[in-house]
Amino acid sequence: MRLTLSATCAIIAVVLAQGGSALAADAINIYSARHYESDDLLYDGFQDATGIPVNVIEGEGPELLARMRAEGKNSPADVFLAVDAGNLWLAEKENLFQPVQSKALNDRIPASLRNPKNLWFGFSTRARMIFVNPSRVDPKLVQTYESLADPRLKGKICMRSSSAIYNLSLLGALIEHWGPQKAEQWVKGVVANFARSPQGADTTLLQSVAAGECAVTLANHYYYVRLQTSRVRGEQDAAKKLTPIFPDQDSTGTHVNISGAGVMASAPHKANAIKFLEYMASDKAQNIVANANYEFPAVTSTPRSKELATLGEFKIDPLNVATYGVNQAQAQAIFDRAGWR
Ligand code: FE
Repeated sequence: MRLTLSATCAIIAVVLAQGGSALAADAINIYSARHYESDDLLYDGFQDATGIPVNVIEGEGPELLARMRAEGKNSPADVFLAVDAGNLWLAEKENLFQPVQSKALNDRIPASLRNPKNLWFGFSTRARMIFVNPSRVDPKLVQTYESLADPRLKGKICMRSSSAIYNLSLLGALIEHWGPQKAEQWVKGVVANFARSPQGADTTLLQSVAAGECAVTLANHYYYVRLQTSRVRGEQDAAKKLTPIFPDQDSTGTHVNISGAGVMASAPHKANAIKFLEYMASDKAQNIVANANYEFPAVTSTPRSKELATLGEFKIDPLNVATYGVNQAQAQAIFDRAGWR
């Protein structure tokens, strides 16, 4: 069962009044900030594999966090499934998670993709790539994150807002590599290159670059693969106009983030919640992640889908994703001072 946040209270009330069969006692409640249609395959797969029913409540990360805060110890949430390590960190900071000891998770999920205290685990990675319209800018000029501040790109860059967690986490990583001073200089340089003030999301930015409204942007890799494989008229053509670049291949490697999950401190169904996390690390779930939403599987032995294979191999920044959250407040302050709205 899948509920959207705004309708949730009323719907739960109705189900309970009818006897509550849809909210079976052993069902786990997943608060999910993922919003990918293919996620139903994961929930159905878990239910098929374990017989444990799943209730899913979807919302944006901050909405779900506010909801769990308000519900306190009485929260029905068993699992918080989030996009971006920065959102997992926010939940961690509020002590919403409990540590999970699981050999399966520790064996299968690389250490750089999980919380050092086992509070949350990454199940997929997403690369923050540079996309260039080669008719407007020579891709050779834009092979690193640092190059986005090159004055030769003046008036050519479109970006998403700085409040987008994907950008906060990227800057969190750059602060870790460069220190805050260089990171702030870089942000100022990028802002000076803006073609317009920040707007839109990853997909609309890719389309703006393809259309030549601007020449360079950052986006997560799967939005590009979705355009490439889209049946919507014009989207494949847009992808063909873009040159994808894995930045920093000769130095630290490309910034990756995760989608991941943890078990709530007040989880009413702790054992089944741990089973869900272990299912997410299983071959079956990892294949769904790779094939249905074009994310890179966290479990390295999982074969990449053919669509991901066409992107090629790339060097990943090995920084532990937990760092992004630690640097998040500093990243937001730097964005604000530099005028990256
Ligand atoms: Fe996304």
